[in-house]
Amino acid sequence: MSLNIPSVKVPRVVIIGGGFAGLELANELGNKAFQTVILDRNNHHQFQPLMYQVATAGLEPSSIAFPFRKIFQKFRHFHYRMVSVLKIFPEKKRLLTDNGEIYYDYLVIATGAGNNFFGNANIEKYAMPMKSISEALALRNTIFQRFENALTSEEETEKQANLNFAIVGGGPTGVEIAGALAEMKNAVLPKDYPEMDFTKMRIIIIQGDDRLLSAMSPKSSEKADLYLKELGVEILYNTRVTDYDGASVTFNNHDSIATKTLIWAAGVIGNRIAGLNEAVYGPGGRIFVNEFNQCAAHESIFVIGDVANVQGDELYPNGHPQMAQPAIQQGKLLAKNLVRLQNNEAMKPFKYKNLGNMATIGRNKAVVELPNSKFQGFFAWLVWLVVHLRSIIGVKNRFIILLNWIWNYFTYNLSLRLIIRSKDKSL
Ligand SMILES: Cc1cc2nc3c(=O)[nH]c(=O)nc-3n(C[C@H](O)[C@H](O)[C@H](O)COP(=O)(O)OP(=O)(O)OC[C@H]3O[C@@H](n4cnc5c(N)ncnc54)[C@H](O)[C@@H]3O)c2cc1C
Repeated sequence: MSLNIPSVKVPRVVIIGGGFAGLELANELGNKAFQTVILDRNNHHQFQPLMYQVATAGLEPSSIAFPFRKIFQKFRHFHYRMVSVLKIFPEKKRLLTDNGEIYYDYLVIATGAGNNFFGNANIEKYAMPMKSISEALALRNTIFQRFENALTSEEETEKQANLNFAIVGGGPTGVEIAGALAEMKNAVLPKDYPEMDFTKMRIIIIQGDDRLLSAMSPKSSEKADLYLKELGVEILYNTRVTDYDGASVTFNNHDSIATKTLIWAAGVIGNRIAGLNEAVYGPGGRIFVNEFNQCAAHESIFVIGDVANVQGDELYPNGHPQMAQPAIQQGKLLAKNLVRLQNNEAMKPFKYKNLGNMATIGRNKAVVELPNSKFQGFFAWLVWLVVHLRSIIGVKNRFIILLNWIWNYFTYNLSLRLIIRSKDKSL
């Protein structure tokens, strides 16, 4: 017995990670002739695209996090264990976790990507990332703590450093959080803090490139720039952060800005587990796999989602975009391919079907690029809203999110602006 999982006659598929890719695979394997084991260090799947709304008090964390045990209640031969996987032993077909070992017949690595601080220890120590629910909640606490500190601060420079919010990265995450902060500054905060002058609050995006949303068209970048500037967001283009000490951020042009809050929305790196040969790793810590998501050196190991660099799709020679759709589509195909493999049939190669790209800016604008059309503004925002609502797991969550959005839209006044810190002694 490993991790107290019974041995059965059907082959065991162990999936590391219950993100978009791992969850889709597990759902598709469902009641098929495998024993499916999903290992994740969290006990819930998290819907990252709406994480910025948790960080800016627009949504409750429970609206975008779903317990694995509830998701998989309906399946037989299915086991979930909350563990961190530490090492893979490909020759023995075994894994070491922080709570014991487990063997596999097929291993699927779906560990996603983590924050990349490009080796800068200071930035890693002081900047606030937003890749998990706990990081989003920590950011929410920090944002509201800054306003409390600004209010009580008697020193003008100290007050201003509390009111300066710097966001590193002008991709969708940076753009979305900047828009949400700006809406809060304009419509909510002056009511909560009538004694404070919010014209002094600065929201600054620091973008290394010469345009925002560089994975989208120049027209979408232009509109994102326009919408954000209309909301009062400042954007520093062609600027890179070189250091941050928790009080002041410095740039490659030697300028600096005093800020207590540096939000890190720049760069990801594949979540790595020890044990695989160094040669399997490519740029961004992604693992090279063939067109069947299979590791060339170990045929019972498959890799899907953000951490996979799939070769053989001629439109994406450098790997697929690190987004939800490629992860979901890879998970879906791999389930079919594992069944084919069991039946001694040929596996099908992965071809990514691009369903589009979008980002929202503030409470009622977005930029949307679908395979056959590109549009921006209010209608784009409605499309963004429907697409995200449809992707959320569970009717109750969809209903709660829709209700929150409608309430927020008409009243500008969700009451989630709470600072709640954990005092857990049980761990
Ligand atoms: C803030 C933010 C906003 C985003 N917005 C969008 C968007 O609007 N649209 C879009 O398409 N994409 C968006 N993305 C990207 C999208 O979320 C990812 O592409 C997607 O989550 C990748 O899925 P995945 O399954 O590969 O990895 P993930 O969803 O990251 O899941 C990986 C899982 O592996 C687990 N794990 C990792 N290492 C271990 C280990 N050693 N042991 C046990 N468990 C482990 C983690 O706990 C996690 O549950 C966003 C990402 C972020 C961070």
